[in-house]
Amino acid sequence: MMSLSRRQTRQITLGPLKIGGGAPIVVQSMTNTDTRDVPATLAQIKRLARVGCEVIRVAVPDEQAARALKEIVSKSPLPVIADIHFDWRLAISAIEAGAHGVRINPGNIKGRENVARVIKAAKERGVCVRIGVNAGSLEKDLLRTHGGATAEALVESALRHLDYIVGDLGFENLKVSLKSSDVWTTISAYRLFSERSDFPLHLGVTEAGGLIPGTVKSSVALGILLAEGIGDTIRVSLTRDPQEEVRVAYEILRSLKLRERGPEIISCPTCGRCEIDLFAIAEEVERRAAQMEAPLKLAVMGCVVNGPGEAREADVGLAGGKGVGIIFRKGKIIRKVRESEILEAFFAEVDRLLEERGGSH
Ligand code: SF4
Repeated sequence: MMSLSRRQTRQITLGPLKIGGGAPIVVQSMTNTDTRDVPATLAQIKRLARVGCEVIRVAVPDEQAARALKEIVSKSPLPVIADIHFDWRLAISAIEAGAHGVRINPGNIKGRENVARVIKAAKERGVCVRIGVNAGSLEKDLLRTHGGATAEALVESALRHLDYIVGDLGFENLKVSLKSSDVWTTISAYRLFSERSDFPLHLGVTEAGGLIPGTVKSSVALGILLAEGIGDTIRVSLTRDPQEEVRVAYEILRSLKLRERGPEIISCPTCGRCEIDLFAIAEEVERRAAQMEAPLKLAVMGCVVNGPGEAREADVGLAGGKGVGIIFRKGKIIRKVRESEILEAFFAEVDRLLEERGGSH
């Protein structure tokens, strides 16, 4: 696998995970359940873990949510980050509840002494802190000096917080994010910051949008930065089920050959030769494959005539004809089934291949 050279950042810890300093890029997502609803939140975290999410962030809007964290953290298969806005007391409650990390924006916590209280609690418990600078909540003096939420303003805000938290308070288990909903501002801010600091960076485009615009914006911004070696953790934010965020995040990492998880799926766009409902079949293959870890190449092709040949490099493929489906391996047809049985036959073949390889899902 070709490897991009990554910028050297210092290594920090988040629960059992290492971040930065050459550690693999970590995929994060955020729950969209009501955090106070512990069973629903845990169920979503478990679903996200199955598709490869490695760190989960949960919103903590009130004390009740902070209290719910205790059970969430103790039963979560993933390290949990509490997302805090404005209220430093909630950050402390989340730390006391056992959160592995907190995400704060020191710019919207009133009073430096309150930031210091949060940092003191984090230090005592070995908790990781993300300084999440956001274009929507920059300090007023920076907006004035820079004439708006520019990349320079975002970076200056982050450096100012680091100055205080690292310089004055002596706390270093930190990562930083510089989020904007504008792709160019995001790219410039992260570039600029990484020239001036070696703290690990969490990448993301905020309020990126629905599946298509959000995926494109995130892929462009994160893709450019990752290709330059910038970024230690990533989150793709989409107005969708967070499982989609994780799938997109892994596709970005896979396309840059930075990480590989689970099967790569190739599927044809269909044309006039296609006689089956390939879109639905491809969607189902993608959904099931997202829960697998083995690095396979799978193909979903629209016609029997050209499919196997066009997807010759696939370990296992399917192609459809008039009411029938075929299953092939490396371009060689091995089974013919009824169209309605195509998915079951395909996954049975995938299982067979994994058994032959002695691998697992
Ligand atoms: Fe068209 Fe068949 Fe190629 Fe799909 S595999 S694009 S249906 S020719």
